Amino acid sequence: MSNYLGPEKIIQKKKDFLFPCSQHFYKKPPQIVGGKMQYLFDSQGIKYLDFFAGVSVVNCGHCNPDILCASIEQMKTLDHTSTIYLTEPMVNLAEKLASVLPGDIKHSFFCCSGSEANEGALLLARIYTGRNEFISLNNSLHGRTYLTMSVTGLPMWRADPILSDCVTFVPNAYNKDKTLDEAATESLKAIEVVIASKGDKIAALIAEPVQGNGGIITPPLWYFKKLKTILEKNGILLIIDEVQTGFGRTGKMFAIEHYDVVPDIITVAKALGNGMPISAFCTNDKIAASFTSASASTLGGNPVTASTAIAVLDYIKENNLCSNAQILGIKLKKGLLELKEKYPIIYDVRGIGLMLGIELLKENGEPALEEADLILEFLKNEGILLGKNGLDRNVLAFQPPLIIKESDVHLVLEKLNLALSKLC
Ligand code: PMP
Repeated sequence: MSNYLGPEKIIQKKKDFLFPCSQHFYKKPPQIVGGKMQYLFDSQGIKYLDFFAGVSVVNCGHCNPDILCASIEQMKTLDHTSTIYLTEPMVNLAEKLASVLPGDIKHSFFCCSGSEANEGALLLARIYTGRNEFISLNNSLHGRTYLTMSVTGLPMWRADPILSDCVTFVPNAYNKDKTLDEAATESLKAIEVVIASKGDKIAALIAEPVQGNGGIITPPLWYFKKLKTILEKNGILLIIDEVQTGFGRTGKMFAIEHYDVVPDIITVAKALGNGMPISAFCTNDKIAASFTSASASTLGGNPVTASTAIAVLDYIKENNLCSNAQILGIKLKKGLLELKEKYPIIYDVRGIGLMLGIELLKENGEPALEEADLILEFLKNEGILLGKNGLDRNVLAFQPPLIIKESDVHLVLEKLNLALSKLC
């Protein structure tokens, strides 16, 4: 007998002591008790290949010994002071981040979550431009605070019934009934229409380079350059939310690099701490200089999270995680495209690097959500954890730790083939 509570008791305690909004995947969810690089272990000792990485967080793997060592050493030396005293890890991290951030983006404000980073980015855009409003894309997800929830397009993540009316939503670069280029063109046209009517009120447009929760929506390579030109002409800032896409996930350090564009503000979180709560909004000299009124985050840039993030950046570089994501992403995508040829339920295969998704549709064109759940459950029982997202929750998401091996890709493709063959 183990000392673990076990799934049923955990579900009961969740009911008793958390909120009903806190949901979980799977009809029969395992209790996860341990992690080691690309693997998770449950209370019964079953090993799972983790192909979701806690939603794009553990890019360097679970309990990675090198990163753990940096966190523990720092914890033993100095755990917290707040930014009112001078400490070294935070400034060293900012310097290291500046060396990998695109273009002239150089200044970082550290905080603890993706929501907080985006909230800060929106505030910064207002301070710099003196304008109040924002444009955001349908199906986006930017956070849980009031303003970040207000710029979130996905209905399921807009819990507040009275969100701010300072946001105008436009179509994203995806439409099932159109080509990618057509959908992206329409998205830009819609942005131009909004700007024509109230461009002088708009501080910024916020967008994920690849929409994660929206269903791995991946705009064509020309999209963000054209978008930046339109915004620049009208004095509107471009905030790029790299919370889910950052730190090698797409085969480059930041996904926006695929689009050859330098945004005005970038937000980062998740994989920066590989599980430790750290995030930041980052910008260039000129925009940073406008933020002069006092501001501080109690735990933001704390020595432990900052030292961890430094170890993360070093690990990504020393272990070539960007190129691993690129190479294995190509192999995984090729395999998924082959499965698409075999199984008509796979309507679309999309994404870059190790941020891939397959959209499942029924024969009548409706979202195949029950089938998506059946596949997830089947794969879990076979020892593989995948993600699920999209407006209709019918997109299977492949976002593993970036330290996976080619054999892991083969295993996932083999088991997915088995799942699909049982379903179809
Ligand atoms: N932006 C994006 C793109 C995200 O995917 C998420 C979380 N899934 C957030 C922001 C919010 O991050 P957090 O949960 O850390 O507040």
